[in-house]
Amino acid sequence: MVANPESATQFQDVYVRIETDQLVIGDSVMTDRHHASNGNYKDDDPQNQIGGIIPAFPLSGWLRHGLEAVVQQRGGTACHPGEMNANFKKDGVYTRDLDAGYHGKGSCVDNPNDDDGCVIFDLFGGFGSIPGKVMRRPIKFNPVRSSVDYTRGQAEGHYRRLNRNIVSRNDDDHREPLRNAELDVVANLDGCWHLSFRETKPEFVGLLAEGISFLNAHKTNFMHQLGGARNFGAGIIDCELITPLYEEHELNRVFDRGKKNTNRMDTKDKQWSEEYRPMFVKALEQRINEGE
Ligand SMILES: [Zn+2]
Repeated sequence: MVANPESATQFQDVYVRIETDQLVIGDSVMTDRHHASNGNYKDDDPQNQIGGIIPAFPLSGWLRHGLEAVVQQRGGTACHPGEMNANFKKDGVYTRDLDAGYHGKGSCVDNPNDDDGCVIFDLFGGFGSIPGKVMRRPIKFNPVRSSVDYTRGQAEGHYRRLNRNIVSRNDDDHREPLRNAELDVVANLDGCWHLSFRETKPEFVGLLAEGISFLNAHKTNFMHQLGGARNFGAGIIDCELITPLYEEHELNRVFDRGKKNTNRMDTKDKQWSEEYRPMFVKALEQRINEGE
């Protein structure tokens, strides 16, 4: 294969490796606990072999925030994620965002029918009828590794529902529980997030590669953690764009702890980082410089 900008069309489907010790999704995960229930399901029993789905919404927000940062670092501004005419809870915050590397959502588009807008608008879309060109999927996870299909964007992960007692602080109450809080947690997540481009452009691949590196470098930064419970160390994500030149069996091999990279995989890694990636990043920088 020869690296040239048109080769971006080969990378319609890309996979991001996501590893985290603890993940808490604010609007919760969807579980398939009925498989394990058998009439006497206890949601805090460590023997439960239940899987579930991490919705795409929090993942998408986390990714977008990283990509915005890459555009801003290179002197561009990014589409604000909120509608310009929205009734924001905090009036000053939106205006402050616009001063800090954002432009109003869709203000980069003159005619939505033949104008792609800025690269963030192009990828994530804008108004109801304009879909983004990157499709973000949910991640299906399963505690049994042999049931995980990495080529379909799945992950190994262990679901638990945690119950926390909030107790009274008054000495007279002897730590009497005031209320009970339940929290959905996915532990030891390791797998693939599958992204596909509805339309491929060299700058999309460049931005994704840079954005994932940025997120990995800033993973302990509160702003770039994923999901909720960040004060408790949740949502620190190790992430990496899996070399897009890999074939399916090579992608699977990444997750096989008993096996190392083949020589062919090493060659592809080198080719990716020395030829393909710089070329796509250059295309990104050109697009940002054009003010688009
Ligand atoms: Zn824009």
